Amino acid sequence: MHARSFWLDEALAADPSPIAPALDQDIRADVCIVGGGYCGLWTALRLKEAEPALDVVLIERDLCGSGASGRNAGFLLSWWGKYVSLAKICGEVEALRIARASAAAVGDVMAFCRAHAIDADIRHGGWLWSATNRAQLGVWQDTIAALARQGEHPIAEWDRAETVRRSGAPSILGGAFERDAARIQPALLARGLRRVAQERGVRIFEQTPLVDLRMDTPNPAVTTPRGTITARKVVLAMNAWALRFAAIRKAMVVVSGDIVLTPPIPERLAALGADEGLTVSDGRALVHYWRGTRDGRLAFGKGGMSGTFTFGGRLGDEVEGETPMRAPLAAALHKLFPGLASAGIARGWRGPIDRTRSGLPFFWHLDPARNVVFAAGFSGNGVGPCYLAGKILASLVLERADEWSRCGLVRPTARDFPPEPVRFIGSHLIRHALIACDRADDAGRTPPLAARLLARFAPAGVSPFQSNAEPAPAPAPGHERPAT
Ligand SMILES: Cc1cc2nc3c(=O)[nH]c(=O)nc-3n(C[C@H](O)[C@H](O)[C@H](O)COP(=O)(O)OP(=O)(O)OC[C@H]3O[C@@H](n4cnc5c(N)ncnc54)[C@H](O)[C@@H]3O)c2cc1C
Repeated sequence: MHARSFWLDEALAADPSPIAPALDQDIRADVCIVGGGYCGLWTALRLKEAEPALDVVLIERDLCGSGASGRNAGFLLSWWGKYVSLAKICGEVEALRIARASAAAVGDVMAFCRAHAIDADIRHGGWLWSATNRAQLGVWQDTIAALARQGEHPIAEWDRAETVRRSGAPSILGGAFERDAARIQPALLARGLRRVAQERGVRIFEQTPLVDLRMDTPNPAVTTPRGTITARKVVLAMNAWALRFAAIRKAMVVVSGDIVLTPPIPERLAALGADEGLTVSDGRALVHYWRGTRDGRLAFGKGGMSGTFTFGGRLGDEVEGETPMRAPLAAALHKLFPGLASAGIARGWRGPIDRTRSGLPFFWHLDPARNVVFAAGFSGNGVGPCYLAGKILASLVLERADEWSRCGLVRPTARDFPPEPVRFIGSHLIRHALIACDRADDAGRTPPLAARLLARFAPAGVSPFQSNAEPAPAPAPGHERPAT
């Protein structure tokens, strides 16, 4: 068993029924959902809301919330920041609809928590897209301009003084603030969703991994170690673990995201003067991000392609448990907040991030009969978007012809990444290029040409990304950076 995140330990300690029984017999159901993270749980909730009599079973290989949903940084963000990428995939009209829905989702998640007494330490403090070196200044401008052309102004540029004052980071150079964002304790949200799903009659089996999936029978069948579930529809909400399916593997790479957490230091954080509920990330290729907690800790993470890559379809220890990057993460944190250097680091952990080329997920089916549907590829930006994923997957399962089943993100996966070993070698080369770009940017130098050229192949997070169809000119360093 891997070390769990601080968040999940906290959530399990507060949970009166921490483990649901494992499946130990063959059963039938209308819908079988595989994966007990936000994506699977929101889908289950949405299905029960739409059709309360539906028999929905959810299986989870470990505990609900033990995947990325219980390990993430808890930035509850919209897709406004990814508008340019959305528009490349779906066109401006659909992109606008999805981005607006993603912004509304932030409020919807908060309202759901209030309605169901889920105390997930939510603060509606917004998101600051900041610059921690000169090369990052203005990386938000294309997105702001594209949104303004549509009459939307969710992101506003801040000057340096405002950015420093609100973030508490003295060396920060500027930023852009988005109001439709909140911070949450991620595992408390996941475990809260699990409780409400159970209350609504979803049958949850934990410590029940899918070991095989049959799609050649009239109804798909999910095999687990001690029982099989035969269902009319199967939903794969397995995040990075969906790598085992070739149709999904070709469209995403998996890399670890790593986080460290200080001990409680409320007086020191108060002395910095930072907004307690603000979530902040910077514009570097290997993004840095941070946020506070209600007991006065600072969580600091590093993402993008900075972590450990998986090889092929195997997802093992490399993306779970303790982070081996505690020292570099602490160094980056203390560079930003020199006054916190003596506070130390209390915990560190990592989790898998399912990166697609566009930084946006795919929704599609694995079989010709469309009985096995999946979502994958949230690319480090899934806390809020998984709420929408629940709507999309539920509409696909119920075969409804509505704006969610027809959503522009419902599309077949493409061969966006080469097979192994080219993918693994290429990922490392690109990471080295991104490191070289970040180092040069931090030092105020122009990154080497070779690094800049290679960095163009990095999967995107915040827009824009380069579509296969129309290669874009080389972006300025820092312009193509992942979310977390
Ligand atoms: C370190 C880190 C920081 C992040 N920070 C942010 C952030 O601040 N904001 C943001 O929006 N996003 C963030 N993300 C991304 C976000 O956490 C994910 O996009 C989101 O949780 C995805 O939800 P999910 O349900 O798809 O995946 P998961 O929560 O990973 O759920 C998938 C579940 O499937 C289960 N599973 C796997 N294989 C099997 C099997 N064979 N049988 C049964 N069950 C199986 C897993 O155990 C897991 O519980 C971060 C991710 C990481 C790792």
